[in-house]
Amino acid sequence: MRTVEQLDSLRATLDGWQGRRGRVGLVPTMGNLHAGHLRLIRVLRDHCDRTVVSIFVNPTQFGPGEDFQSYPRTLDADLEALERESCDLVWLPDVETMYPLAESFRIQPPDRLTQKLCGLDRPGHFNGVASVVLRLFNQVSPDVAIFGEKDFQQLLIIRQMVKDLALPIEIQALPTVRESDGLAMSSRNQYLTAAERAIAPLLHQTLIELAEKLSAEHSWEDSRQLAWDQLEEAGFQPQYLEWLSAESLGPPQPGRPQRLLVAARLGKARLIDNVGLV
Ligand code: AMP
Repeated sequence: MRTVEQLDSLRATLDGWQGRRGRVGLVPTMGNLHAGHLRLIRVLRDHCDRTVVSIFVNPTQFGPGEDFQSYPRTLDADLEALERESCDLVWLPDVETMYPLAESFRIQPPDRLTQKLCGLDRPGHFNGVASVVLRLFNQVSPDVAIFGEKDFQQLLIIRQMVKDLALPIEIQALPTVRESDGLAMSSRNQYLTAAERAIAPLLHQTLIELAEKLSAEHSWEDSRQLAWDQLEEAGFQPQYLEWLSAESLGPPQPGRPQRLLVAARLGKARLIDNVGLV
């Protein structure tokens, strides 16, 4: 496994693969790798010959007062895990490499995809995400990249960016990897106290129950209100709870894929989750 920190070493390594490099796959991450990240790597391996994992805690996707400074950074453990996964290359750019100019180019995804869900609670977040992912795509030139459905809005924005900008990159998606009690794995789960961790799985349970009610044709407004109240009673501060088209994030369309999506604060953590409906 090669670990590179400079753009010229990255290019040299990728060039060295040329001719016999086969398909290159990229897994963008912010590090602090958990079993969800490792599953991304394993699944991607079925779609490529060489696996590149990037680790970069991207400042432009954090808002003022968010957890950029305290975001868990565990590079040694991450590199050990990637070695075990037989990752070929780890790309570790620093901030100057990613944003060499004080005023840098930013990509602005369409409002249709950002002015809802996490985009409302985290203004500018998806500009930062799109801007860093486009840079990673340009640096690594992958044939395929993989993203988790856990960040469902992010996945749709990346898919739209690739389509809109005609990037020759295949995007794969991985269903959310969960703890045994249903909690979606996340680096931010470690912000939870033991008491909060015990109630955190209620977020996923709430979505499952809502999905069941919708398939039994209960009223959405009533079911949503009940679910919202239950979350608040348990100690969450819900931020959104939405039922949307899984294709456009617009209103759900009968007979087309749909998604229930939730975000809630629990103590210091902001947790998100989503489930699919047919
Ligand atoms: P992050 O390091 O949190 O920015 O995540 C890097 C990638 O891992 C993103 O594509 C996430 O959607 C994905 N990811 C994070 N947690 C999970 C999970 N529990 N299941 C599936 N994918 C995940």
